Amino acid sequence: MANIIKTHGFVLNTVPFKESSMFVSLLTKQNGKVKLVAKGVRRPKSRLCGALERFCLDEIIYYRRESKEIYTLSDAVVLQAYDAIRICPQRVNAAHVLCEFFDKTLPPEEPHTHAFSLLNNFLAALTQVHDEQIKSTTYAFLLRALPDAGIHPRIDSCVRCHVPITYNNKRVDFSIGAGGVVCERDFDDTVVFMHHDTLDVLDGIYKNRSVVMTDQTVADLARLLPDYLYYHLDGLSLNSLKHL
Ligand SMILES: [Zn+2]
Repeated sequence: MANIIKTHGFVLNTVPFKESSMFVSLLTKQNGKVKLVAKGVRRPKSRLCGALERFCLDEIIYYRRESKEIYTLSDAVVLQAYDAIRICPQRVNAAHVLCEFFDKTLPPEEPHTHAFSLLNNFLAALTQVHDEQIKSTTYAFLLRALPDAGIHPRIDSCVRCHVPITYNNKRVDFSIGAGGVVCERDFDDTVVFMHHDTLDVLDGIYKNRSVVMTDQTVADLARLLPDYLYYHLDGLSLNSLKHL
């Protein structure tokens, strides 16, 4: 029996399918990530094509059938197109970072209300920040999204032996492989140096304080985050992150 679902969803990604159709990956409010087929949507007169731009927020209707792995999109109406982002290529690419991350990491059809509201807040922020804040805003939201993929870095104590670490302006040793800070005894060749400010930013982000990133922190995150994702998410590489 078919189940009719009506919900809100962000378009995470689209892939052409056959001559005129498209696979659409959406992050929905109700059912987390869903993959739908939008039939005939690449024909010139399709009424749905405008609604399937990446990071559009749509009201969608689709049919769920127990017997099928991929469901059919029946209708999509744009609720928010984020035109203020679309006029700036750098912002568009930044918006793609979180879309690509969720598209590639969230398991299908599990409710992810945190991820949904995070993407909502990220896109709202991208319409407002100054040009020079686009990178730091994107890194901040990507860090907030890591727990959604189950890869929250550990920063309160040594990730290997769990002793609390006091820094007193010492350098911060962060193990990409172990997924967190390490004490002097557990230093090994997976450890990379992180600036003190960067640790403060991570701490602020995971304790829900507002954070301000220095250039040093932005540089640290640009260096560490791609390796961290690659190591902990089966070789994940975000194309949009390379062009941020
Ligand atoms: Zn240790």
